[in-house]
Amino acid sequence: MPHPAPYDLLLTGGTVVSHDGRHRHDIAVRDGRIAAVGEGLAARAARDVRVVDAAGLLVLPGLVDVHVHFREPGMTEKEDFASGTRAAAAGGVTTVVDMPNTVPPVATAEEFRRKLNLVAPKAHVDFGLYGMLGQDNAEEMTAMAELGAMGFKLFMGQTTGDNRCPDDAAIFRGLEAAAAAGLVVGAHAENDHLLRMFIDRLRASGRTDPRAHLASRPAFVEVEAVTRIVTMATEAGTKLHIHHLSTGAGLRRVRDLRADGHRVSVEALVAHLLLDDSAYDTHGNLIKLNPPIRPAENVAELWAGIARGDVDVIATDHAPHTPAEQAEQDVWCAHGGFIGVETMLPLLLTAAAQDRLSVEDIVRLCSYTPARRWSMPGKGQLAPGFDADFVLVDPDATGTVDPATMHSRHNVTPYEGRPLTGAVVATYLRGESVYDKSGIVGAPRGRHVRPAPAGKR
Ligand SMILES: [Zn+2]
Repeated sequence: MPHPAPYDLLLTGGTVVSHDGRHRHDIAVRDGRIAAVGEGLAARAARDVRVVDAAGLLVLPGLVDVHVHFREPGMTEKEDFASGTRAAAAGGVTTVVDMPNTVPPVATAEEFRRKLNLVAPKAHVDFGLYGMLGQDNAEEMTAMAELGAMGFKLFMGQTTGDNRCPDDAAIFRGLEAAAAAGLVVGAHAENDHLLRMFIDRLRASGRTDPRAHLASRPAFVEVEAVTRIVTMATEAGTKLHIHHLSTGAGLRRVRDLRADGHRVSVEALVAHLLLDDSAYDTHGNLIKLNPPIRPAENVAELWAGIARGDVDVIATDHAPHTPAEQAEQDVWCAHGGFIGVETMLPLLLTAAAQDRLSVEDIVRLCSYTPARRWSMPGKGQLAPGFDADFVLVDPDATGTVDPATMHSRHNVTPYEGRPLTGAVVATYLRGESVYDKSGIVGAPRGRHVRPAPAGKR
């Protein structure tokens, strides 16, 4: 008789959903990794193995949110790495990529090292860190790559932190540095000069209402920046990702560029998919976002892009501010962004229950593709050898978005009260529970995720 398999954990009876299908499979875990996936694993396991009964539940790979702002260092009145990663764990997100527009910005190797040491002990989920592609910091980018940077953020248009946007020559040198390191550059693609001009015009005209923000950022401001950065990245040989592409026109331009042989990945935000400009009437400046929440026709174009496969990734742009900041009445003084990492999966499951996409699509857009695009070792799939990062989902559970149960430092959300179909039951990080219905489980045990070396992808 063969010896029983020495598993640490056995997940039985669940329906395992991957990017391309679903199966009634058991999952066996050993040393934080998936040891086996298949039918009837319990019969082969040792008798004292810890068993989690997932009957009636869906088992998804933990989500990988490549766009969060957890505000450390320098803006911890808004959020910090502990509260942000607790919100992630409660939302079924097991890996986040945190943005570098903190105070100070992560634009040097010294700052990268300092931030890594600061946030690592507080992380309840695994995390990657972006460095900044700034004005003339190519050497620092190379050094940040050596320290394990997940990629580099390029702000072509201004946002929180009000960092100076690099000029085109600096952008090109940064793209070359990222290409040499084999890392992704993620662009915030809006033309800074144009949007500042429109803001000045609208201010001069006396507009201070929430919709003036939308008026200040017409679609061509995005289309121009997308065209320019894709063209430059192809020339430099850089892996380019467009964060929060927000317009149908931008998506059509990406299709044209791809038809011309350019390679680029594209992200849509949950907020751009679930909110339209009618929300300015109900939520005012709370939904101020860069790029802005746009009209319903545009939202429909983004959903069509998802259905066609033009959109590669869905992310949150989780961007917290204090309640006082979010109550600002003057649109030009209001801050951009709001929270989202904890509500992404429940809201997308609700969209799946409405047949707007499938749960397999959610896995592909929010876990499988991001893990592959950023070359995250062990992430994005429930297969032998991968990290045992998974989320148990009850697809039929109903409820509403309730800030009182949420985990960010401030839980002001435009989704408050929204009906939900589908809930996170438990989240596991490398084989250990980090969240269940009792709340956050255990001390922070998240790890820094470095991209796989260029030769091992
Ligand atoms: Zn962002």
